[in-house]
Amino acid sequence: MSYQVDNQGYYGEFGGAFIPEMLHANIDQLAKQYKILINDDGFQKEFKSLLKDYVGRPTPLYLAKRLSTKIGARVYLKREDLNHTGAHKINNTIGQILLAQRLGKKRIIAETGAGQHGVATATVCALMGVECIVYMGKVDIARQAPNVARMRMLGAEVRPALSGSQTLKDATNEAIRDWINNPAKTHYIIGSVVGPHPYPDMVARFQSVISEEIQWQLKEHVGRSHPDYVVACVGGGSNAAGAFYHYLDNEDVQLVAVEAAGKGIDSGASAATSVLGSKGIIHGSRTLLMQTKDGQIIEPYSISAGLDYPGIGPQHAHLIATGRAQVFSATDEEALEAAMELSRIEGIIPALETAHALAILDRIKVKEDDVIVVNLSGRGDKDLATYIDYLDNNQGEHISDE
Ligand SMILES: *Cc1c(COP(=O)(O)O)cnc(C)c1O
Repeated sequence: MSYQVDNQGYYGEFGGAFIPEMLHANIDQLAKQYKILINDDGFQKEFKSLLKDYVGRPTPLYLAKRLSTKIGARVYLKREDLNHTGAHKINNTIGQILLAQRLGKKRIIAETGAGQHGVATATVCALMGVECIVYMGKVDIARQAPNVARMRMLGAEVRPALSGSQTLKDATNEAIRDWINNPAKTHYIIGSVVGPHPYPDMVARFQSVISEEIQWQLKEHVGRSHPDYVVACVGGGSNAAGAFYHYLDNEDVQLVAVEAAGKGIDSGASAATSVLGSKGIIHGSRTLLMQTKDGQIIEPYSISAGLDYPGIGPQHAHLIATGRAQVFSATDEEALEAAMELSRIEGIIPALETAHALAILDRIKVKEDDVIVVNLSGRGDKDLATYIDYLDNNQGEHISDE
């Protein structure tokens, strides 16, 4: 069985490209060109050199000793939080801006919910000196003021989406409308392993640098290039896809995806798509999504803005359906506790998204010799306000601990 995309753009029954007629030419061009361009030596040279000198790769693979003692196995943290801009998202936007240049596209559009992908896109557009328009729901613009300020400072235009619930799906609709109106000169940078083929595969390839590095780093640390478990949080699924990529066909490696349970899976306020979702089409691909009986998207909820997505990438839907990947979910509360703990025992303040992956480690049935790699997708600076609230409400407990 293959876990990679087939020639039609599918992972098993998931994937494909369900797009308006007007975009067929763009998507066809992209699908024809991306593999040729990505495999081109000149492209790879430029991509790798920017990842090294601009992003700061390779990111360390760090043996978290005190966390390992607590879990009862060797836990390694893949430090994507140390990338420029503070998360893994920049790996993909660097790749796509280079691709856009080679396709002769002079104008970049993107959509963003929490603003993290908007910032990563605005960053690479500033780097290359190209026009950047980021669509964002009006409600999200109000909720995510610091990221909106970052995008503006980086020279991007943030355009509010005023329809519907004024959140991510409305911003996505606006971005697609823009692309239909400006097909020739515009490239649409999607920020996760979602969207019509070839985006899920393209984004996974750009993020696959994560597992490419884990392989040689682990070889240095433990003498073999594969761990027993790779654990990553899943919003759309790009950091997980990158961390899983080179291990997909190695069944000795357990792939573990962690979703946001929000206030609890059955609470009505959750983003645990693989449990609550059903098959349907979202953002141009067939996958699992949270929807009502008549196909309306259900607004997801998580304390972490980056996991607050109603769908999941088609490759992950396939990995889960086939049993290749195991899924857990962590609640807001569990993620907050895990973030506090990593900060105190390792001196690393993780992003709230990442904290979901950390929260389930003690649910894995490990042996002492096991090697677990956790993809530390991002740093927690952006979540400080939420962390401060939590600390204020749990003060006694957290100051007197240890
Ligand atoms: C955006 C984000 C995520 C979720 O996106 P994926 O595509 O699922 O990786 C996870 N962690 C951090 C730090 C993020 O910024």
